[in-house]
Amino acid sequence: MKLNTHALRYLTADDWRVLTAVEMGSKNHEVVPTPLITKISGLRAASGVNKAISMLAKSGLIAKVKNAKYDGYRLTYGGLDYLALHTLVKRKSAYSVGNQIGIGKESDIYVVADDSGTQRVLKIHRLGRISFRAVKNQRDYLRNRNSASWMYMSRLAATKEFAFMKLLYDNDFPVPRPISQSRHCIIMELIDSFPLRQVTDIADPPKLYSDLMDLILKFAAAGLIHGDFNEFNILVDEETQTPHVIDFPQMISIEHPNAKEQFYRDVNCIKTFFQKKFRYTSDVDGPHWEDVKRTGALDAEVLASGFTKKMMKDLEKYMTEVAPLGTNDEDWDGSDDDDEDEDEQEDEEGDEDEEQEDVEHTERKGNTAGETGLEKKVEE
Ligand code: ADP
Ligand code: MG
Repeated sequence: MKLNTHALRYLTADDWRVLTAVEMGSKNHEVVPTPLITKISGLRAASGVNKAISMLAKSGLIAKVKNAKYDGYRLTYGGLDYLALHTLVKRKSAYSVGNQIGIGKESDIYVVADDSGTQRVLKIHRLGRISFRAVKNQRDYLRNRNSASWMYMSRLAATKEFAFMKLLYDNDFPVPRPISQSRHCIIMELIDSFPLRQVTDIADPPKLYSDLMDLILKFAAAGLIHGDFNEFNILVDEETQTPHVIDFPQMISIEHPNAKEQFYRDVNCIKTFFQKKFRYTSDVDGPHWEDVKRTGALDAEVLASGFTKKMMKDLEKYMTEVAPLGTNDEDWDGSDDDDEDEDEQEDEEGDEDEEQEDVEHTERKGNTAGETGLEKKVEE
C-alpha cells in the first residue's frame, strides 16, 4: 500500500467534510450509511454530498460496500492517510512529502519537509499488513478482522509510539524528537544516521557495545523495556559513533509479566549481533536482570499522557496474537505485501492509473527529500 498524495490538492472543502464524516461514522458503523454521511457532514445539499462521495470513491479514499441491509461506504487506508496528512499540514508539521526511505514490517517511512525546508520523518503505521502473509494457516482467522479494526490498531500503535517517544525525549534518552501525531501517523526528527546493521565503519565496537548495554539498563531503570532493541532500530552516527534508538510500539513496563524475558532478548540481540558482525564478545558477563536499579517510572507516567490502559490492553492483544506469526524485524524480508485483503485491493483499483512514485525498498539510501521528492507538495 503506497502513499499516493496525488488527489490531495484537488479535494474541495466539501470533499474534506464528507471524508471526515465517513471517518466519524466509522466509529459506530462498519459500513457508514449514506444518509448518516450526509447528516454528519452538515452539508445542506444532498447533491453536494453525492458529488463529494463520488470524487472520494474515485480517488480510492472511501469504498462502497454493499451490506445485507443497506449500502454505504467505509474509509480506506488511503482515506485515513489523507485525513492524517491534512491535519499534519494544517498544524504546519509537514508541507511536502519526499522519498520513501523505509518499508518496515508494519510501517512506511517517508522523508517530509516543513515549510522552511527542514527535513523530518513521517512514519505511517500499517498494522495488519504483515499478518496476512506471515503464516498461511492463520489467514482466515486474521482475515475476519475488518479493515476498521486494523486502522484502529494502527492508530493505537502511533499513539503509543508518540507518547513513549515524547516521554523518552523529555527525559534525555537518545531518541528522535517527536513533533506531531495524527491518527496512524507520526512526524519526528530525522536522525542523520543509518541503522547499525548498515553501518560498516564502527571504530570502537567494545565502546558502542557498552553504550548500548548501558542504554538497555537506563531504559530499565526508568521502568521500560524496549522489546525490539536490535541492529535495525539503533541508528549510529558514523562520525560521532553515538546511537539513537527508534521504534517503540512494542515497549513494555518493567512490571509486565514478560519484562524479564524481553530484557534478556534485547541484551542477547546486541550480543549476538556484535559476535557475528565484529567478532566481539565482552569479557564482562551480563548485564543481568538483577543489575537493574529502578530510579524512575516512565511506564506509569505514559498512562497520564493520553495512552490509556484500555488502549494498551487492546494493542497488546494484537501484539500477542500477531507477533508470534513473525513480525519481528529479524524475520522480515523487506518485501512489501501485495497480498492484502482482497477488498482493499478492489477498493483501491481507482488509484492504479494515477502516477506512482518510485520507492526505495528497505535500504535507506538518499535521505534528502530535496533529491527527487519535493515536487510532491502536500496542499491543504
Ligand atoms: P518499523 O516499526 O517498521 O521497524 P522503524 O521505526 O524501525 O519502523 O523505521 C524503519 C526504518 O526507517 C529504520 O530502520 C530507519 O532506517 C528509518 N527511520 C525511522 N525513523 C527514522 C528517523 N527518525 N530518522 C532516520 N531514519 C529513520
Ligand atoms: Mg524497526
